[in-house]
Amino acid sequence: MTSPVEPLVAVVTTDLSAITRGRFVTESKLQKTAATGVGWLQANLSMTPFNSIVDPNPWGSSGDLRLIPDLKARFRTTRTGSATPFDMVAGDIVELDGSAWPGCTRTMLREALADLKAATGLSVVAAFEHEFHVDGGFAPAHSFSFAALRRTDPFAPNLMAALTEAGVAPEVVIAEYGEDQFEVTHEPADALTAADRAVAIREITREVARNFGWRASFAPKTAPTAVGNGVHIHFSFLDDAGKPATYDAAQPGGLSRIAGAFCAGVLRHLPAITAMTAASVSSFYRLKPHSWSSSYTWLADRDREASLRICPTVTIDGRDPARQYNIEYRAADATGNPYLSLAAIIRAGLEGLNAKLPSPPLVTGDPTLMSDAERANLGLVRLPETLPAALDALLADGVVTGWFAPVFVETFVGLKRHEAERLAGLDPVAICDLYRTLY
Ligand code: GLU
Ligand code: MG
Repeated sequence: MTSPVEPLVAVVTTDLSAITRGRFVTESKLQKTAATGVGWLQANLSMTPFNSIVDPNPWGSSGDLRLIPDLKARFRTTRTGSATPFDMVAGDIVELDGSAWPGCTRTMLREALADLKAATGLSVVAAFEHEFHVDGGFAPAHSFSFAALRRTDPFAPNLMAALTEAGVAPEVVIAEYGEDQFEVTHEPADALTAADRAVAIREITREVARNFGWRASFAPKTAPTAVGNGVHIHFSFLDDAGKPATYDAAQPGGLSRIAGAFCAGVLRHLPAITAMTAASVSSFYRLKPHSWSSSYTWLADRDREASLRICPTVTIDGRDPARQYNIEYRAADATGNPYLSLAAIIRAGLEGLNAKLPSPPLVTGDPTLMSDAERANLGLVRLPETLPAALDALLADGVVTGWFAPVFVETFVGLKRHEAERLAGLDPVAICDLYRTLY
């Protein structure tokens, strides 16, 4: 009789194409690996989602790094339906001497959070809401319907069980508006944990679907006419004492002054950070008016067309809104690296706090029906409409590029320009087909 195989644990990092990459170690080696990590290399940051490395890139063929697992960011479950456990630990990429490497997006998020805390005393609570399509050859069903979810049974309960066992703290799995579209949410957590959970949710969902013989796709648009798959990034703040700091009943929309300054910073830099949060060619088929995604720099109270949406609070039986109150960034999708997306939002918000910007107006109505003067008066700027335009907007905003090491900006822009150029000859249907298989 052969002895059972020893399970493997993956030490992973999320790259600039939002692909989870890493190396496996045997479970018994994980503790030892936590001290010095596994090998990694600089040029991996220039990897495309098409299994190629952009050439030329700033890194070339030389250099070595370490990917150090953070044992607090381990996600393990035996419930995906695979033969061995799903076991994944998010890590930080460091130089061989352990010092921070300027290309590690998880480190960037940690540093952005530390800078926000040092400047303001605030910490960030966050949650990622993911929409995705499942290719399973299902019979048609109505949007949001009982039948839409039941026809995939036991997909939803299996997914909930796997996410729960992994420690992701899922809230719901629902049938969404689009054909064969679903959504999964998790409980809010500190921002770094939330980004780790985003990675785990994507991978666990893909694995559970795969074990049904299906394919889950988080591509922003599975077809140009399909309902988009958004990633909505929810955020709120706790002050130094751990008290909620986002809500103030006396302010318009209940938005506290500090949260308002933060939102103003995000809106000011939104055209530039869109390239990071909606990071692919197909992302820009989603960011269009009248698709409940986001298309202008716009804060609104409970309007799903806005780029920043104040979310509802429930006051049934006198419940306190302060702890529920949060804002949702909607110009994001799963081609954006969750660490980089959140780091960019926090850096932009911190600019707003440092500049003591006033809260943005709460916009109502449809910006596409407003005159240029009305839009200008409300600060409404159209988001970039293509990936190359988003990269131009990024490079045009010296404040945003200043948050990163120059070599990181060079790598990011080089990678994304390559992605756009590579797809330049394809029509939108072919481009969506491709991303559908890649994400
Ligand atoms: N599917 C929409 C998007 O692309 C979001 C719809 C919703 O608000 O749930 O972001
Ligand atoms: Mg949704």
